[in-house]
Formats: sequence, C-alpha cells, structure tokens
Amino acid sequence: MRPDDRCRWCGGPVAQGASLIDLLCTEDLLCAACRHQLTPKPCTVMLGTLRIRGFYGYEGLFRSMLLQYKECMDEALQDVFLLPLARRLRRQLRHAVLIPMPSSTLKRRQRGFDTVPSLFSMLHLPIAQVLEKSGEMLQSGNAAQRRHNAAQIRLKADVSLPAGRLVLIDDVLTTGATLQAAAALLPQAKEAVVLGVNQRWLPSRPSVFQQIGERGRNKTKEKI
Ligand SMILES: [Zn+2]
Repeated sequence: MRPDDRCRWCGGPVAQGASLIDLLCTEDLLCAACRHQLTPKPCTVMLGTLRIRGFYGYEGLFRSMLLQYKECMDEALQDVFLLPLARRLRRQLRHAVLIPMPSSTLKRRQRGFDTVPSLFSMLHLPIAQVLEKSGEMLQSGNAAQRRHNAAQIRLKADVSLPAGRLVLIDDVLTTGATLQAAAALLPQAKEAVVLGVNQRWLPSRPSVFQQIGERGRNKTKEKI
C-alpha cells in the first residue's frame, strides 16, 4: 500500500468505508470514518464590518488534528482541513491576495514552518506576509492577557501592500482580537477566512438555560 493510500490520521486504508462514488469522485487524505468526523460545517461570523468565514467548530477531531499539526509538527496533516473545500474556495477567492495572521518568531523557529501560510498553500493563491508580531508575547495568561497579546501586531516596515482584494486568513477564530487588529491596520480588507471557529462565536453554543434539546446549529450553516 502506498503512503498516500493510508489515512493521514488513523493510518487505516483511505478506501476503507468509502462508497464507490466517493472513491470515483474524490481523492481524500483521510478514511471515510475520519472524514465523517471532520466534515466542514461552513459558518459566517461578523466582527464589526469584517466578514469571517469558517469551516469547522474548534472542538473534537478538528481541534485534535490542528494541535497535532501545530504542536507536534505533523506536516502530513497540512492539507486535510481545506481539501474538501479547496476547489470552491480557490474559485471564490480568485484575484484575492491572502494575508496570514502572523505567528511569533519563537513559534515559527520551533516548528520550522509557518503554520497559517502552510495551511492555505494548497489553494495556490498569492500570500503576502505583510503583518508581524510587534513583541514576543507569551500565549499563556488569562483571557484578557491573551487578547491583549494577540492584538500586538503591526505592518512590516519593508513590504509594500498588494493592491486589490485582500482576504485575511488564520487557523482559528478564538477571541477575534488578532483579526480585529489586522482589520484596523488593513481597513481595505473586508473579509477573512479561518479554518476553525471557537464555539463562543456560534449560536449553537448551548446556554445554561438551553442544555437540552436541538442546538439550532443549522442557523449558522450556509453554502460556500
Ligand atoms: Zn482514518
């Protein structure tokens, strides 16, 4: 069996559990059982005037895979997140320049690769790294500290801004502070694309008064 015939997550055969139509129509990097747990559920979040599109809730297998990719430097997982969306996204974002949210120099050095540009590289769209962290802040601390740290970004001094449609990209929408800071620096960017969205942004998050019953997640779904 070739390496590409193995599921990038569980190591089982990619063909296992897949229907004939699946096999004929799609080339996946995950087996059907893993893909079933990592099925995109597109949603849109408005952060001020910034329209953010996301595809996975930051929970379950998506969260585990992203952590494995980022913290264990498991580059085999790089393309599994966008693969089912790539063709359509590439079409929708044609003529756009992607602006990745910056990671710290320390993290980049530890990993040996820059996570956000790598995660979106399969779209084969121009990526302009015009933002940088303005300080090497720790990612720990309470929510307010993390939010403050995330907002510590600036435009690089030595790069020129690309003209045309700018789309901010990030791996996960957590507090929203980074994207908000980026949108303030680049007001011409009206949209953003993230892989995952923290449950806090999704109306399906059950409140203390709504622990039982239908979550109403469909309200956040839309066709991409
Ligand atoms: Zn699998």
